[in-house]
Amino acid sequence: MKELTRRRLLWCAATDRSFVRVERAEGVVLEGKCLHCGRKLWLRTDGEPISRATIEHIVPRAHGGGDELENLGIACARCNHGKGVRLDVRRADDPTVMRVTEMLEQRRRDRLREPPADWDLPPRP
Ligand SMILES: [Zn+2]
Repeated sequence: MKELTRRRLLWCAATDRSFVRVERAEGVVLEGKCLHCGRKLWLRTDGEPISRATIEHIVPRAHGGGDELENLGIACARCNHGKGVRLDVRRADDPTVMRVTEMLEQRRRDRLREPPADWDLPPRP
């Protein structure tokens, strides 16, 4: 996986209060929840996904959404792909697109936190 993608995943997790450091057999990992479905996701402490965690663009790139952290969340591959197939083909002012985008923006804001001081983070992407 590209270094920039790992760094984005790591910073999304660091600024998402659903993500915590947990001890597993292979060492410390980051455990949190998919922004859509709430299913558990895991990353290594360098951001490499253990389960199929992907970067979710809350406002889709197809609708002008950017790569700033506030527009990014972590979603399981199934949710992210499903949303892309269902919504990216619609217009940005489609009511379903607007409702889903607002819901995800709200959820990202609700989970937003300062990065924990004891996480060893690379520079902010
Ligand atoms: Zn999901």
